Amino acid sequence: MNFEPTDEQAKLRDAARRLAQERFKDKAARWDRNEEFPEENKHLLAELGYLGLSIDREHGGSGAGLVSTYLVVEEIAKVDMLTAMIVHDQNVSPRIIANHAPAALRARLLPKVVRGELEISIAWTEPQAGSDGTAIRTTATRDGDHYIVNGQKIFTTFGDRADMHLVYARFAPGTGARGIGTILVERDRPGVTVHRLENKMGVRGASECELFFDQVRVPASNVVTLGEAGHSRAFVQPLNIYNGTRVGMGVMALGVAEGAFDLARDYMMVREQFGQKLCEMQGLRWMMADMLIEIEAARCLCYKALALVDAGRPDPCLSSIAKVQATEMAQKVTLQCQQMFGGYGYFGALPLERMVRDVRMLTITGGTTQTQKNTIASHIFRAQGAAS
Ligand SMILES: Cc1cc2nc3c(=O)[nH]c(=O)nc-3n(C[C@H](O)[C@H](O)[C@H](O)COP(=O)(O)OP(=O)(O)OC[C@H]3O[C@@H](n4cnc5c(N)ncnc54)[C@H](O)[C@@H]3O)c2cc1C
Repeated sequence: MNFEPTDEQAKLRDAARRLAQERFKDKAARWDRNEEFPEENKHLLAELGYLGLSIDREHGGSGAGLVSTYLVVEEIAKVDMLTAMIVHDQNVSPRIIANHAPAALRARLLPKVVRGELEISIAWTEPQAGSDGTAIRTTATRDGDHYIVNGQKIFTTFGDRADMHLVYARFAPGTGARGIGTILVERDRPGVTVHRLENKMGVRGASECELFFDQVRVPASNVVTLGEAGHSRAFVQPLNIYNGTRVGMGVMALGVAEGAFDLARDYMMVREQFGQKLCEMQGLRWMMADMLIEIEAARCLCYKALALVDAGRPDPCLSSIAKVQATEMAQKVTLQCQQMFGGYGYFGALPLERMVRDVRMLTITGGTTQTQKNTIASHIFRAQGAAS
């Protein structure tokens, strides 16, 4: 068992750390305050090849794998979760396409994604279908060499900037997972309407949107996974990708927690009360020790789960464990680090206030903590021969 990054991974991580500290850190508050997408950061990430880390060489990426990719995400999340999310998002829809789309679609789309010229959102959640993703009502109905897409989506991240949406739709009548597949719908097709949701708590430079599809005509060549009557394979296939992406959310949480921890540690070494530095006070020292224990546990879980995905042996239960542990940990740790700053931490002049808000989304999206626990519990009892 090897817990050390390879030389190549360590170099990649160190370069990402310098990039994050030198280029991303100082502007993170601005994107949040202005609810602005960090266009310049995205260009820089594309230029440096960070958008193609987990995409294979055949399609213009570097095929570095998820462990390498998330070492980069972690470093960026220490200073700016929004920019870290740009790298993370490359591992969601592009990897579904890389692994499951027909060759022609892969060749047409993936090199553009790597160059930062094409963004593809994930449009799965619907108003009545959140945790129960199989309750979707959006339909894709065959019409000659096209499909007609009808339905409504909600919470689609970057729905207003994505060039295409990877839409989960019902291709064949039926209930549950039966007949669900995925199809790419271009943003500018007639019948597509996008509405940005307002008053978001954190990661305010990223937009979440409602999408409406009204008789949208899409070529059959845009189908990624074809839902068929009586089949659930088209639905199940992309789910394998989420074994990696949900751990990725854990790594983003880990990065933010570490960023907050470092700020608190440095402050405690200079702030004095009662003639003593904060770092000399036993109660606070133990809080820091407890936080470090949780951070290290999250790191081990996340990278073990990612290493298994890279090795072609994803462990869905471990992926869920890693996501829950890291995202719940980050909520506690950022709040406690904010506490170390007393009144100063409550104001937006310090990054702590932003960090507390940013990590909040991570226990919800990508499968809530509760649904992850359902997966873990099913594994516990299935392993003993129970039905679910
Ligand atoms: C910031 C943000 C970004 C998002 N980005 C995207 C995106 O890009 N694309 C996309 O498709 N979706 C996206 N989502 C949607 C996200 O995946 C859903 O919000 C999530 O799956 C939960 O669904 P819901 O909000 O409908 O809550 P519900 O499913 O209604 O859940 C409500 C509560 O009930 C609990 N619950 C539900 N079922 C069970 C159960 N069986 N057992 C125990 N507890 C349960 C949940 O844990 C939760 O606490 C995003 C959400 C957010 C907040």
